[in-house]
Amino acid sequence: MDRANLAAWFDSLGERVFRADQLLKWIYQQGVTDVRQMTNLSKALREALSETTCIRLPEIVTEKRSADGTRKWLIRVDEQNCIETVFIPEKDRGTLCISSQVGCPLDCNFCSTAKQGFNRNLSLSEIIGQVWLANQALGHFQDGERPISNIVLMGMGEPLLNYDNVLKAINLMMDDRAFGLSRKRVTLSTAGVVPGLMKLSRDSSVSLAISLHAAYDELRDVLVPINRKYPIAALMEAIRHFADSHPGDTITFEYVMLDGVNDHIEDANRLVKLIRSLPAKVNLIPFNPFPGADYQRSSTETIDRFREILMKAGIITITRKTRGGDIDAACGQLAGQVISRARKFQDKQIGISV
Ligand code: SAH
Repeated sequence: MDRANLAAWFDSLGERVFRADQLLKWIYQQGVTDVRQMTNLSKALREALSETTCIRLPEIVTEKRSADGTRKWLIRVDEQNCIETVFIPEKDRGTLCISSQVGCPLDCNFCSTAKQGFNRNLSLSEIIGQVWLANQALGHFQDGERPISNIVLMGMGEPLLNYDNVLKAINLMMDDRAFGLSRKRVTLSTAGVVPGLMKLSRDSSVSLAISLHAAYDELRDVLVPINRKYPIAALMEAIRHFADSHPGDTITFEYVMLDGVNDHIEDANRLVKLIRSLPAKVNLIPFNPFPGADYQRSSTETIDRFREILMKAGIITITRKTRGGDIDAACGQLAGQVISRARKFQDKQIGISV
């Protein structure tokens, strides 16, 4: 539960609502998951809670460490399925990349997670549990340091197709009584689920990233098939709505660089036209290969040329460094262990939870 739910729940038990704050601090700041150790709760309440509730975490199965310091955890969420969570340390920050679904129902054909198929949404506890486990593994609860300064919902899954759980999880990430990250440091990335985006504009002040990858429909229909349902014009309208509801914020556009596919000069010009009037910045992601992938990474010269065109047009553009490639932890390489229930993009699945 996020703070609002927890407060309402304590209220329904006839308890004072500040118990919610106490509980959150124990769990997310002290790392305590045994209510009997929560010494500022009355003994009677501790006993009642230990009989009627449990605080359960998903389980780390394996950890891989990259030569560049990136760490990837395989996390079991049920008997059959595992997801992946990645920590990327940098000089001035540490970014945790978390998953929102077991697999993904979108069928972006340059993404390894898509090839795994889709099983189910993650529960709120499975989403926030990744943050808790990473904090524990990185020593946060022991020494009080904060190795995780940023969280991105850029792991497995499409966050806006698991709307309610994702919203509560980001509330906990940004809640001062829980993980307390600033809203500028929590980023939700979406392939473009328009109804979810409209709702998010109203419900949250989280930072937004859009996986665009193509600036015209014929190509985006192929690369990001949800575009057939929510074409670029509709997506841009929703993004504008989000931008208008969050004045002063910058929206990140992610653009994977696929050799000979979306990396021409003309593509860069189209991209400029599309986003020029928005408070936008662009992350160019050199394509990360995986077994069975149909694409190649654009050359460094092509990526630099593409970036130049955007920069000349006044759009801040960063080429993302590939991190954790040697342990398959880079963008689009997360596969986990997914028992797929639906391999293909299906209209009826898209939007069931938004
Ligand atoms: N479903 C959400 C969250 C995933 S974010 C979304 O699409 O935004 C993961 C990012 O990595 C997305 O921008 C995705 O398009 C990109 N990506 C996927 N496969 C990739 C690959 N093989 N190489 C580089 N980037 C990739």
